Amino acid sequence: MRARLSSGEIITLAKDCTCPTHEGPHWLHEDALERAKASEALQSRDIFRHIFTERARLETKVWNMNRCGITELMPDEQDACQ
Ligand SMILES: [Zn+2]
Repeated sequence: MRARLSSGEIITLAKDCTCPTHEGPHWLHEDALERAKASEALQSRDIFRHIFTERARLETKVWNMNRCGITELMPDEQDACQ
């Protein structure tokens, strides 16, 4: 996954953990897991759990993006397939 920084520079986000199960930063991997949980809640028509999970996920995502100085995430085609 690539990202645009507040400076305008575009970088490739590096792996920052030793997990053998994913590429890229660990916080993005956790974001994908939470997105899957939110989607599952929606499919189960558990709207309250869906909203609660999505709200927490997005708050954490914005926090991590701010922490890293990221203004835009730019998924590659391969990111969309995962
Ligand atoms: Zn990891």
